[in-house]
Amino acid sequence: MSELINLMDFDRLSLSEYFESIGEKSFRATQVIKWIYQEEVTDFQLMTNLSKALRDKLSQIACVKPPEPELHHVSNDGTQKWVASLGCNNRVETVFIPEKTRGTLCISSQVGCALACPFCSTAQQGFNRNLTTGEIIGQVWMANHSIGHKAVTNVVLMGMGEPLLNFDNVVKAINLMLEDNAYGLSKRRVTVSTSGIVPAIYRLKEVTDVSLALSLHAPNDALRDELVPINQKYPIEPLLEACESYIDNGEGRRRITIEYVMIDELNDTAMHARQLAKLLKNKHVKINLIPFNPFPGTDYKRSKEFAIQKFTDILMQSGFTVTTRRTRGDDIDAACGQLVGQVKDKSCRHLKFKKVVIKS
Ligand code: SAH
Repeated sequence: MSELINLMDFDRLSLSEYFESIGEKSFRATQVIKWIYQEEVTDFQLMTNLSKALRDKLSQIACVKPPEPELHHVSNDGTQKWVASLGCNNRVETVFIPEKTRGTLCISSQVGCALACPFCSTAQQGFNRNLTTGEIIGQVWMANHSIGHKAVTNVVLMGMGEPLLNFDNVVKAINLMLEDNAYGLSKRRVTVSTSGIVPAIYRLKEVTDVSLALSLHAPNDALRDELVPINQKYPIEPLLEACESYIDNGEGRRRITIEYVMIDELNDTAMHARQLAKLLKNKHVKINLIPFNPFPGTDYKRSKEFAIQKFTDILMQSGFTVTTRRTRGDDIDAACGQLVGQVKDKSCRHLKFKKVVIKS
């Protein structure tokens, strides 16, 4: 029997096309999406507004398969983390951060990451593969299913991986987050965080207008080349230009979030703060400082409290909105940059690679 098609790999438009391709009416897509995301139904036989014949047909050729949590931890501060098994020993991590008025889910877009930022633990494991659309949106499904329906009010693509290097799947998953028949989140409650893939930022503007966060981490190219090596390809000036262009749609109040990891003595001095203020002058940004979260094997240290305070003061005196991210869930290794998911066994990747070689 050929492999079942996972209907979570489609957004509404592509699911409509799929239904047409199997000789069904395109409006079935809306019905099925409602069942999957609003009712959390994965068994076609329970989708009672589909005809029996269609339910039987779908059961033969398709499936609805969210990722399955292998581990679920709850932190003392209420943060929750799931490690989902994706087969071939690939794992991916998802973190839920409850706050008074919202529940933010931090989701992953890739298994591992290719970008080699030396302060991030995900980078240390290298890149294994892109997540499918179903594996990305499935993290929202999995969290809502586990905590209770509609617990997730905000989604940030700040887990493992670089979302803009898995562009098509990430965009389809975003479409489902915004889709009224699925999660219906507002575009302001969905944030893509990028290390700065300039052409992809322009492409993203063509297809969506969710919020954008930029992992800047350094106020000059020399230091950013080291901390975020993709900077060697896409340096700061064209990058900030791309970000400005992203929010330039006539809605004057939009701002990019600048993420800045605070590493002791490396990028956190008063001089760095002044350089950053100069760099971002007149740009539509707010600045989010992230105290570095250590992981085994790293030599970097978190900035001292007074250094973070001084850095904040300098930026605020220059008129910027500055927030410092409170570390959440560090007792369960759920903080930024601590997500590793483990790529224990890369044998499947080699198998796939071999297949491609044989075919070509
Ligand atoms: N690749 C994307 C999204 C994943 S990282 C990006 O670079 O934006 C999500 C955020 O966590 C980024 O701002 C990243 O730089 C930050 N981060 C990574 N490792 C960290 C660490 N050890 N401590 C604190 N923040 C970290």
